[in-house]
Amino acid sequence: MSPKERKNFEVELPDLGIMFHASLEKFGYALEKENIKWEDLTQEKSDAIVSHIVDEITSEYNDELFNENNRNKYYKNKILRVVKQSIWTLRDHVIKGEFRPKAFEIKFTDGPDGLKPVIIDLKNNEKLILKGTIDRLDILESDNETYVRVIDYKSGASDLKLSDIYNGNKTQLIIYLDALINDANYFGFDHIKPAGVYYFKIDDPIVDYETNQLLHKRILDEMKLSGIGIKDLDILSRMDNDLVENKKSSVFDVKLTKNGDFYSNAKVIADEDFYLLRKHVKKHIENVGNKIISGDTNIFPIKKSTQFTACSYCDYLGICQFDRQFSGNDYNVLPNYKDKEVIEKLHEDKSK
Ligand code: SF4
Repeated sequence: MSPKERKNFEVELPDLGIMFHASLEKFGYALEKENIKWEDLTQEKSDAIVSHIVDEITSEYNDELFNENNRNKYYKNKILRVVKQSIWTLRDHVIKGEFRPKAFEIKFTDGPDGLKPVIIDLKNNEKLILKGTIDRLDILESDNETYVRVIDYKSGASDLKLSDIYNGNKTQLIIYLDALINDANYFGFDHIKPAGVYYFKIDDPIVDYETNQLLHKRILDEMKLSGIGIKDLDILSRMDNDLVENKKSSVFDVKLTKNGDFYSNAKVIADEDFYLLRKHVKKHIENVGNKIISGDTNIFPIKKSTQFTACSYCDYLGICQFDRQFSGNDYNVLPNYKDKEVIEKLHEDKSK
């Protein structure tokens, strides 16, 4: 049926998300075009580029609409404010290490441009073709390896947990990683290794502060990358040069013990575990795909707590008719595994 939401003649929140993404993409390419290195970028120059880009994007969208009323003017101002802050934080993340943005909004698709899609074989010779767009790819070319940091932009609060990935609830970044690893040639690499998969919050957080320096630090704390990194201190130190000295990162959420080891709850996994996670996620999608082609039409939305269910944020509630009183309609209550349990499960699955 491919239902779509009704489009109103006004600026809506999903449109803001699209404009944030477009602004960050255009900014990256603007720096390339002007041949400005991230480390040489001044805040004044950064803000000027952002202002130009936001003007361009809002007038392409509908300039008249953005000047139509105070609400829409506020939205334009919000885009400007949030993108300025996000770019300045992104610049901090970049210059603290050696990873550099390589590409933005990278498509993986069965069309002529972009990475190859991720193809999952289903039963009866059917195939499930996964396509998408990777928000940003950061690269570190080391002596004999190329490491990738995969970034997804989020305009709301988002935390990436191993348990969610294992449960099939947040598989997007692992599929992005899979698309990149399977088609490393697209960027001219023989092969690439994962350094991490992260959410980058597009935001202009409100924080308490006493001094400008403290304000900057608080903002960085609020806007740390959230996700899973590789359990390799050398590579993580090349994402944040101060990690070892400070025993914690201001770029991503990792702390070290006073002996310099990872805390047991640090969100880092071994290279092999990234492989097992990719394998597990694809197996999970294969199982879902096989259920769909077998005609399984049970409605089974996820439920993580008494407050959160998939239906909480769904625009299709009015037409989907989910009702637990009907047979085949129930919540899919997801277990909350500790990171250690997820790793154990991945290794158990490997030996099956
Ligand atoms: S309302 Fe719930 S069950 Fe229905 S489509 Fe949305 S998430 Fe699925």
